[in-house]
Amino acid sequence: KDFRNNVKPNWCPGCGDFSVQASIQRAAANVGLEPENLAIVSGIGCSGRISGYINCYGFHGVHGRSLPIAQGLKMANRELTVIASGGDGDGFAIGMGHTVHAIRRNIDMTYIVMDNQIYGLTKGQTSPRSAEGFKTKSTPQGSIESALSPIEMALASGATFVAQSFSSNLKQLTAVIEAGLQHKGFSFINVFSPCVTFNKINTYDWFKENVVDLEEIPDYDPTNRVMAMTKLMETNGMLTGIIYQDKTKKSYEDLVYGFKEEGLAKQNIQLTEAEFEKLVAEFK
Ligand code: SF4
Repeated sequence: KDFRNNVKPNWCPGCGDFSVQASIQRAAANVGLEPENLAIVSGIGCSGRISGYINCYGFHGVHGRSLPIAQGLKMANRELTVIASGGDGDGFAIGMGHTVHAIRRNIDMTYIVMDNQIYGLTKGQTSPRSAEGFKTKSTPQGSIESALSPIEMALASGATFVAQSFSSNLKQLTAVIEAGLQHKGFSFINVFSPCVTFNKINTYDWFKENVVDLEEIPDYDPTNRVMAMTKLMETNGMLTGIIYQDKTKKSYEDLVYGFKEEGLAKQNIQLTEAEFEKLVAEFK
């Protein structure tokens, strides 16, 4: 169960995405997956490279579209464990429509966002997660827009599993990914993953001072959506840990009408050459 491969990541030294890579590898092994049972689909951005750095099936897709590809993959082959991944620009700007609908659809897969509050690959522009007043090349006077609150967004969209973690806390990050992989439904995991090259505000030190570990909150109940929303508002969205989980709701593939249980990839399709040609002609 070795999820390491020989590809050397070309992330900057210290980039938070290294920890996400290591945590996915550890979590996949811990839950008993084999490399041939796991597929990772990524979008575009520094984070998008992750699908090439883990020993399993990988698909580096197009900007903001990791979720439609990953959902199709899961529906076609239910035996695969599917992870979609990307950055905050990828998932919360160009891909936001897909994010909201994938969450409410509740297909059994895991979505990991590497949230560094900036566009790193294109050398430092303001993202949907950048704070008001954040100065970059694209907002030299400071951003005049409010930062998106991804966890509140996920809860409001009907998520059945919502977690948040921090690249510096490998133990917690691995544990929430493990829980996400084991959750039967759509698991949304936002990871504070600092961009050490372009974001000089939201640094490792800044996160260490600001994150609030749920273990520090006595009597926190992750099945209580109202409590989750309240604590998020009280902590300015900086909670880490498993924030909300609903184990009672059925996943999309358990409910969807008209699909064979094993998925399209496992159907035994035996066609003669003539039948195949006829089928192709119908699609032309
Ligand atoms: Fe990571 Fe930022 Fe470097 Fe991209 S530019 S690899 S996000 S540190």
